[in-house]
Amino acid sequence: MTHLAIDGGTPVRTKAFPEWPIFDNLEERLLLEVLHSGQWGGANRNKLPEAEKLFAELHDAKHAVTVVNGTVAITVALQAAGVEPGDEVIVPPYTFYATAAAPLMFGAIPVFADVEENTLLIDPDKVEALITPRTKAIIPVHIGGAVANMTKLKAIADKHGLRILEDAAQAVGARYKGAGVGTIGDLGTFSFQSSKNINSGEGGMILTNNEELADKAWSLINAGRIRKGEWYQHEVVGWNLRMTEFQAAILIGQLSRMEQQMVTREKNARLLNEMLRDIDGIRTLDADPQITRHAYHLYIFKMHQELAEKLSKREFCQKLNAEGIPVHEGYVALNQNRAISEAIYKLTGTARQDSCPIAERACEKEAMWLAQNVLLGNEQDMEDIAKAIRKVVQSV
Ligand SMILES: *Cc1c(COP(=O)(O)O)cnc(C)c1O
Repeated sequence: MTHLAIDGGTPVRTKAFPEWPIFDNLEERLLLEVLHSGQWGGANRNKLPEAEKLFAELHDAKHAVTVVNGTVAITVALQAAGVEPGDEVIVPPYTFYATAAAPLMFGAIPVFADVEENTLLIDPDKVEALITPRTKAIIPVHIGGAVANMTKLKAIADKHGLRILEDAAQAVGARYKGAGVGTIGDLGTFSFQSSKNINSGEGGMILTNNEELADKAWSLINAGRIRKGEWYQHEVVGWNLRMTEFQAAILIGQLSRMEQQMVTREKNARLLNEMLRDIDGIRTLDADPQITRHAYHLYIFKMHQELAEKLSKREFCQKLNAEGIPVHEGYVALNQNRAISEAIYKLTGTARQDSCPIAERACEKEAMWLAQNVLLGNEQDMEDIAKAIRKVVQSV
């Protein structure tokens, strides 16, 4: 029998995986330019317009609006799209907490549609069944960098007159049938929080091809001003939700490294797919051929149901961690988060119980991930990952 590292055996590897963030004197120079300019705020627009232009071009979007972070980007995009307090917004449960907390920030109600078994992306068939007269928008989340089934979601949204907001926080650079994420729905939102593939410490962006929506978002972020209005002319209720010039500087630096990093992640994900598919007890996710570019913020894989019955996900991850592989257990299904359920109850007076058995089982028992920086390693690193997984599976 193999002697696992957790039981005192020799770990498969002790070497670290690539560190995050990655930067050099480019970011340093750009930051110093902002410092010496004395124009640091988000209303002093030197680096910010450049960052917005680069980011829009990267996704073939007509308009880009920077904002403090990815959570607020969702809140503002929903408000720009006309979602109001009490309206319902359909979201998946397998996502970061912010996707559901963002509508709650202004009293809109998240409603959970379960995910697909083989992609862990929102299931369009589940979405349609949840539509009520109060439903105003759908938020597909491009989880891990894989784009949700936008073809089906758009058909549903068109049929029922709903807006689509793509939560692309994990999908910078991803494409679907050739189109950049954020341009497929009505709007798309992004995060530059420090773990994300493009990192400016904190930060966010809204993309859209709709000028009216872009202008509305801009007003909400800029204290209710209008683009060509006076400084103290506040036409709508809005807030100061601007990003700073320092963040824009780092963003510009990080964007210059993105293409090369994406190519490395794609190559390593392909290698992992090939290697993990051969291991009994492990399942890789299906790739929708409509996804023409995957952003791989996460490399998500699952324990097969049979293996998951013999070994808990937590133990499996702990054993892999001991072998030197930084695999992560991942999310708790958001439809089961008590804070969110209580907030919904407070707003609606009814206890929603959205049942999402696929997401719940994935979260409790099966799905786990490697973070994007792990995918920046080399072929030997990927072989070590597969070797460790095989070792732990075979020990069961
Ligand atoms: C990170 C993330 C957010 C929130 O972005 P912040 O910048 O951390 O506020 C929203 N949705 C998803 C899917 C995310 O991964």
